[in-house]
Amino acid sequence: MTAALQPKQPLPISLLRRIDAFLFPPLCIVCDKPRRRDDRWLCGDCLQRLTAGIASRNACPRCGQNRAVRSCACAVVWEYPFDRIVSFVDYDDTIRIIMHHVKYQGKRRLARDMGRLCAPYLDGNVVGACDFAVPVPLHWLRLRRRGYNQAEWFARGLVGDAARPQVHCGILRRMRRTKTQTRLDKSERRRNVAGAFLLTPEGAEVVKGKRVVLVDDVITTGATVAAAAAALLAGGCSGVTVVSFARD
Ligand SMILES: [Zn+2]
Ligand SMILES: [Zn+2]
Repeated sequence: MTAALQPKQPLPISLLRRIDAFLFPPLCIVCDKPRRRDDRWLCGDCLQRLTAGIASRNACPRCGQNRAVRSCACAVVWEYPFDRIVSFVDYDDTIRIIMHHVKYQGKRRLARDMGRLCAPYLDGNVVGACDFAVPVPLHWLRLRRRGYNQAEWFARGLVGDAARPQVHCGILRRMRRTKTQTRLDKSERRRNVAGAFLLTPEGAEVVKGKRVVLVDDVITTGATVAAAAAALLAGGCSGVTVVSFARD
């Protein structure tokens, strides 16, 4: 074979990657500025702001409300069937964008990575005492359309490889498709989700006498997690703690 007929040496992959990154740098999903390829999803600035927000959030140890933003009355009025709510971020514009990507653009791994980001800030005493981490389930139709439950991916990132609590998705079932809660007031939300959850036969067997950490992506009035917790407690679960990524 003559030299002229030999195939050209292809460019090494690493060089191609560098050219590609130069021409088409990946963009931060929040601010649209170029980000480094090894920063996932967010640019360094947005990531830094997010982590600093989590670290400095002045959360009420019971209701999870950011006391720098809103004063809570949970010491006087507590209408939930669970012990407490732990939330990591306030539902601001950044979180709205992140959640939009998670829910409507197929980015399930983003939910898991947000769980990993929050994990170091989770008090081990709160969830280590729980036997199961139960993601708030979606109705099967919504689950089929989306292909995944973002609360489950967040829970998996948050809990990581810890032996306890074990992420268990077969305990609760969402029986009704509930209306989107956005335009409902507090009592309408409660009515909208009342009785929306039931234990599965397996759930009924395993939760008796067990503590559960109920995990959701965003909590607004708490009506959804209250309905889910009520189903767990009705099945003999000994206590429920609620953890959410964001708090509205
Ligand atoms: Zn950014
Ligand atoms: Zn409070």
